[in-house]
Amino acid sequence: MTDKHVDYETDVLIIGAGGAGLRAAIAANDSGNKVTVVTKSLLGKAHTVMAEGGIAASLGNLDSKDSWEVHFNDTFVEGVYISNWKMAELLAKEAPERVIELEKYGALFDRTPEGKISQRAFGAHTYRRLCHVGDRTGLEIIKTLEDQVLHRDIVFFDELYITKILKKDEKVIGAIGLKLNSGEFYVFRAKAVIIATGGCGKIYKVTSNSWESTGDGLGLAFNAGAELMDMEMIQFHPTGMVYPPGVKGLLVTEGVRGDGGILLNSQGERYMLRYSPKKKELDARDIVARANYAEIMAGRGTPHGGVYLDITHKGADYIKTKLPSMYAQFKDFAGVDITKEKMEVAPTVHYQMGGIKVDPETTKTNVEGLFAAGEVASGLHGANRLGGNSLADILVFGRRSGLGAGGYARDKKLETVNPPDVDTEIARVKSFLREGGKNPYDIIESLSANMSDNVGIIRNEENLEKALKNLQDLKLQVPSVSVGGNLKYNKGLLACLELPNMIIAAEAVIRGALMRKESRGAHARSDYPKKDPNFRKNIIYTKIGNDMKLELRPVPEMPDEIKKLVDPEEY
Ligand SMILES: Cc1cc2nc3c(=O)[nH]c(=O)nc-3n(C[C@H](O)[C@H](O)[C@H](O)COP(=O)(O)OP(=O)(O)OC[C@H]3O[C@@H](n4cnc5c(N)ncnc54)[C@H](O)[C@@H]3O)c2cc1C
Repeated sequence: MTDKHVDYETDVLIIGAGGAGLRAAIAANDSGNKVTVVTKSLLGKAHTVMAEGGIAASLGNLDSKDSWEVHFNDTFVEGVYISNWKMAELLAKEAPERVIELEKYGALFDRTPEGKISQRAFGAHTYRRLCHVGDRTGLEIIKTLEDQVLHRDIVFFDELYITKILKKDEKVIGAIGLKLNSGEFYVFRAKAVIIATGGCGKIYKVTSNSWESTGDGLGLAFNAGAELMDMEMIQFHPTGMVYPPGVKGLLVTEGVRGDGGILLNSQGERYMLRYSPKKKELDARDIVARANYAEIMAGRGTPHGGVYLDITHKGADYIKTKLPSMYAQFKDFAGVDITKEKMEVAPTVHYQMGGIKVDPETTKTNVEGLFAAGEVASGLHGANRLGGNSLADILVFGRRSGLGAGGYARDKKLETVNPPDVDTEIARVKSFLREGGKNPYDIIESLSANMSDNVGIIRNEENLEKALKNLQDLKLQVPSVSVGGNLKYNKGLLACLELPNMIIAAEAVIRGALMRKESRGAHARSDYPKKDPNFRKNIIYTKIGNDMKLELRPVPEMPDEIKKLVDPEEY
């Protein structure tokens, strides 16, 4: 007899209620499937809600020369030629439709005086392309999608943490989870499962990411046999808050620079004129982040170890209208009035470009019945993500994922779950509940310090080897972590469950960074400072036994008609 649990059946199970999960739910439901969405947080609270600056779509409302072709080229070139070209093409072609659809769903974007959707400039986008709602675009997107989901026949479980994907004969047949607020176990039987769990920013100490971003989907997929790709590509956003300590890393949107903000060092120099005379503050994120870092390292930083970001010249009315959240954030947290004073900012870990390897059209993984979309998936952004492309990604590929999984589920039947698989997983979860073990928070703190100290914005062999050694030591300690209390509302237990996923994510980032002996996009190595044509490849991670195996695979070749849209790569 299996351990006590609740059985639940659905056609498509979606893990994650951020933008990707919700858009997938709409598509899967509209194509005739019973859809169930689970989130470890609450509906409406996903990380997506924090998105600020906007969503990229070549509507051409302000710059009529914009087109999907230019958006495609910007995305592919700034991904430093290792993006999946098909994903970049689909994103550029479909983002405008998804924005208009959102508007039809009820989203209220900022307007031009003529009544069109307004678009702001953002780093490395050739034209003004980001549709926005002040600096609260993510909130509007989540509210709009949530409204659509609630008006459909879609079932929701919040505060439900998925711990394992279930398989039978190499095929995904469901998942097991713990309802955090009741302590009950749930066994979901599903014809298809979509992972939409967001990123892994929390493996770093200083990050803009929410508490949810612990890389769970990477661990779930990897343990189920799915390939990961390009995990070494971690984006450092140029501008996070540096002070006070409690908000270190909190994002200062690129919208500040898009709307005219300039970067200054402690000598009052606008140093981006030196680093990037043409694009200045609006160059790609990797370039601006490294410039900020270099200025701080050269001793030209601010009292709290950042650089200055100044938008005071735009005037109070403009700032309060365009950047209300930034105004409130600095006023409330740092006592700084950004209409009159400069902000102090420094790079912060922001986004994982790598993730689960997916098929561009359907988002299916290499494991039958398993799909992935959003930040947890890889391929689109290559070595560097353009601002605004993630919100476009979650809508374009969220929808494709819902259609892909929904289409797959249509002629499948629900499989029976093997009882010992359920018992073993429930026993694993319960095994963390005992007195006297190691504190999971101590291990997580060591892990995130290890990543920030040794796998940061500039990397080298010595530090990466050190990071790997430290991580292996931490990995050995995982079986001895434990917490007191019971299954219900136990934050410590949640930390125990997240920790192994964080270890997988961190190990992949370190091993990939060691393997990629070049500097490309967000991955910069002081011992290999140049880009190397031999590394114009993707790194693929596979689980073999208990080990992580890495291999370099050629980037998919693009057809000639697409190739002619792309600026040639220079070495
Ligand atoms: C401060 C900030 C500002 C940003 N601004 C922009 C912007 O202006 N433009 C842009 O394009 N991008 C922006 N981004 C990036 C963008 O917001 C994210 O990449 C995107 O929202 C990710 O969406 P997602 O649906 O993939 O995942 P998320 O929104 O992270 O959702 C993940 C979901 O999975 C759930 N989950 C995770 N693990 C489990 C589990 N084990 N069991 C059950 N549920 C689980 C979570 O609870 C959550 O519901 C910003 C990011 C940050 C941090």
